[in-house]
Amino acid sequence: MNHAKRATEFNKDEAKVNWHDKALWYVREKRDKSAHNVQGWEYLRQLGSEIKANVLSNLDEYLIQFESNAKKNGVHVHWAANAQEHNEIIQSILEKHNAKKVVKSKSMLTEECHLNPFLEDKGIEVIDTDLGERIVQLAEEPPSHIVLPAIHKTKEEVDVLFQEHLGTKPSQGNPEYLVSEARKHLRDKFLNADVAITGVNFAVAETGGFVVCTNEGNADMGVHLAKAHIACMGIEKIIPEEKHLGVFLRLLARSATGQPITTYSSHFNQAEEGKELHIVIVDNGRTEQLSREDFRASLHCIRCGACMNTCPIYRRSGGHSYDYTIPGPIGSILSPGKDLKKHSSLPFASTLCGSCSNVCPVKINIHEQLYKWRQVIVKEEKQPIVKKSILKTAGMVLSKPKLYKIAGKSARFALKHAPKFMIYNKLNAWGKARDLPEVKGDSFDEWYKKRKKNE
Ligand code: SF4
Repeated sequence: MNHAKRATEFNKDEAKVNWHDKALWYVREKRDKSAHNVQGWEYLRQLGSEIKANVLSNLDEYLIQFESNAKKNGVHVHWAANAQEHNEIIQSILEKHNAKKVVKSKSMLTEECHLNPFLEDKGIEVIDTDLGERIVQLAEEPPSHIVLPAIHKTKEEVDVLFQEHLGTKPSQGNPEYLVSEARKHLRDKFLNADVAITGVNFAVAETGGFVVCTNEGNADMGVHLAKAHIACMGIEKIIPEEKHLGVFLRLLARSATGQPITTYSSHFNQAEEGKELHIVIVDNGRTEQLSREDFRASLHCIRCGACMNTCPIYRRSGGHSYDYTIPGPIGSILSPGKDLKKHSSLPFASTLCGSCSNVCPVKINIHEQLYKWRQVIVKEEKQPIVKKSILKTAGMVLSKPKLYKIAGKSARFALKHAPKFMIYNKLNAWGKARDLPEVKGDSFDEWYKKRKKNE
């Protein structure tokens, strides 16, 4: 199924679509207010973008520097070329600790590597401890947003889900009650976990330490109670120096939720006494993306989700319609690099309005990259046959003025007089949910000539 078909499914529940749209726009507005309160916000974005560009140009050196400093801190550093290696490294660490219960705080990388099903197959319990993540885990769904994983669920749906899985009482979606029940449930999981897994928001080459940002404190709770901590990071998470955190932490929180600072920005440098700290550094296609000149800036991404909150397509089609770990505009430029055929509809799931690029805290030219992917896809003929023939015909008509005039006249006549089924049919995907605008009698050319005559 392509994006349009999955979006059609989501659009069947109109009330939910409207609510989803509003909820995300609310976050976008909070982001605007918060960003406008920072003097020099645009300067901060520019700085963030330049630091990331520097990182990507010297990635090998920063990674080696990070590894060396982390090792000096007593941290075990592992390298994974792909998802399989990442999962196997984690499995081997868990085996070493004879761990059967794992608590995990939000990490899109572990989602990307499908770590949960991999470990569950080996008989290991993995509990996502971020509330939104736990909700989608109980619903056996992937996250639909990178910062707000359960944004597609209403509180009433969560109520039913908790009744089924946690044995809660019906509460008509009372958020206080649901949160307190989730807290009790998760507290028990934290207390019994053997190992804690977290993601990494920023890894500092200068110190070998890293920062994990959460609003619920779940990463800290997991790490402090378990005997080992495994942190998983993509190679692009590196920043050169500790002082650069001042740039990125300010950009991240405001862009993500409109908060001035994430509630917990936890710094990890070394393991507590008697415990172990492991870092798994993962490539999984990032080096390949780095080698694509037109698309390498996509690796600047700090996963704030702002491009999703502002995107009119994302807001009205929902995160699951992208069928990729990272949905929305940024996912649509990362996913074709992974599997062009599978994700070839995603760069077209955009109005190219540029709103994503305007809000991106690290100034990724998202809409330009979407447009570039379209060109690659068209060249490689990865587009549906109907679309291909329509575009071919349109190209021919548009390149011949006489033919264009005749076609225009015929189309205007047909749109006015032809029976509805001839206009609105399977071939007219655009017209499935919309009426074509009313057709005027004259073409622009004819109208302009008449106007000139009467002047
Ligand atoms: S592309 Fe930019 S706006 Fe989108 S998630 Fe990444 S950093 Fe945020």
